[in-house]
Amino acid sequence: MSRQFDAIVIGAGQAGPSLAGRLSAAGMSVAIIERHLFGGTCVNTGCMPTKTLVASAYAAHLARRGGEFGVMLDTPPRIDMARVKARADAISVNSRNGIESWLRGLKGCTVLKGHARFVAPDAVAVGEERLTAPRIFVNVGGRAVVPPMPGVDQVKYLTNSSMLALDRVPEHLIVVGGSYVGLEFAQLYRRFGARVTVVEMGPRLVGREDEDISQAIREILEGEGIAIRTGAECIRLAPHRDGVTVGVECTEGDPEVLGSDVLLAVGRRPNTDDLGLDKAGIAVDARGSIQVDDFLATNVPGVWALGECNGRGAFTHTAYNDFEIVAANLLGGDKRKVSDRILGYALYIDPPLGRVGMTDAQARASGRPLLGAQRPMSRVGRAIEKGETQGFMKIIVDAETRKILGATILGVGGDEAIHGIIDIMNADVPYTVLQRAMPIHPTVSELIPTLLGDLRPLR
Ligand SMILES: Cc1cc2nc3c(=O)[nH]c(=O)nc-3n(C[C@H](O)[C@H](O)[C@H](O)COP(=O)(O)OP(=O)(O)OC[C@H]3O[C@@H](n4cnc5c(N)ncnc54)[C@H](O)[C@@H]3O)c2cc1C
Repeated sequence: MSRQFDAIVIGAGQAGPSLAGRLSAAGMSVAIIERHLFGGTCVNTGCMPTKTLVASAYAAHLARRGGEFGVMLDTPPRIDMARVKARADAISVNSRNGIESWLRGLKGCTVLKGHARFVAPDAVAVGEERLTAPRIFVNVGGRAVVPPMPGVDQVKYLTNSSMLALDRVPEHLIVVGGSYVGLEFAQLYRRFGARVTVVEMGPRLVGREDEDISQAIREILEGEGIAIRTGAECIRLAPHRDGVTVGVECTEGDPEVLGSDVLLAVGRRPNTDDLGLDKAGIAVDARGSIQVDDFLATNVPGVWALGECNGRGAFTHTAYNDFEIVAANLLGGDKRKVSDRILGYALYIDPPLGRVGMTDAQARASGRPLLGAQRPMSRVGRAIEKGETQGFMKIIVDAETRKILGATILGVGGDEAIHGIIDIMNADVPYTVLQRAMPIHPTVSELIPTLLGDLRPLR
């Protein structure tokens, strides 16, 4: 059977559904195909369930600290993991169902369940059906990498997806991978009562960030009793009657760690290997990411790639921004481009890391004259009042243009407060505009103008 549409969207992740909505609102007949769960990674095995778990972990942490706030609990807090999981599941399911029923209610939109594969540049097959359209949008996302490390095929390992299906607290969780996904799981399971060891191949945690950030994050996590093993150059896994051993060969400490469970959090790969891209002649890079131009068009006319599968961003907001760029160019008469966006993101340990723009290292490497300033969260009134003074904020400015190049807020409310800086960078105005604003007291953001007042030349 063959059906003709004006547009086909493959994947109902963070760009596909919104795009299907815009295209059908513009009067097009649209088919959207989802092979598994509506809402994709973010809703089902990523942002939404993990941030819900982070909230439960924060509640546990604060309950344990209750006495510091004069809130006395008669017994130590107890984690009911089944309830914790049920809360996360309910929030995900609600969102997933909402997306599916919204799509099914769209006029002109046909929703298909199944795995889509290109059979020609303008055609995809879903089971027995063949669908054709002059416009095809690929939003197939990615999945956890399972690295070919020795022993990986002999142990029962967890990934971000199977981790979220756990309704028990592991006795000793070994997290392989000391970056964004791994550290969130590490801290939240520690707060649920697990022993946790993070094993990282690189010399420091979150190696893409500046060294001072890596160090501060390490101190925060170690302060909660998480063991950190960096420089684990030759990670190997082996089954053990009590769980799994992870050989680390670090420069110091035991050469092996015995845990009850091991989580692999060492990166993601695009879901492009089983998409029939060769049948359409769509080019991918060495990682399997679909190659796109600044407008997210592939090398094949009439085919676009959005979200994680194009290698231009690994976040929900970058996927959603891809939708906005494609919709603006095709339907809005607005020539938006990927290269126009300024990347911001957060790491949701507690306190969170809010980041935007260049790291210090990148700014220095650019060779520009720089101004910089830093402030510990222990000198932020709002943080003191909340009893959450870990971390620091810092900012880096081009000394000639006086434009902000990058900033970090590792501290309470950092994921929100960073937006003031994101906004001023997008407005493309000098930092003095932000410095002269009158912020609300007491907030974390109110110290940003003060921070800007402390700018000094950086060598
Ligand atoms: C543990 C974890 C926590 C995260 N936390 C955050 C966070 O806090 N903030 C943030 O911004 N990002 C976070 N991310 C990243 C974020 O989830 C992803 O970047 C985002 O979901 C990517 O969206 P996408 O639309 O590209 O792909 P996805 O959301 O993965 O959606 C792709 C969809 O396509 C479907 N699909 C794939 N192949 C086919 C096919 N051939 N046919 C039909 N359907 C197909 C998939 O089933 C899926 O539903 C997190 C990720 C993880 C793993």
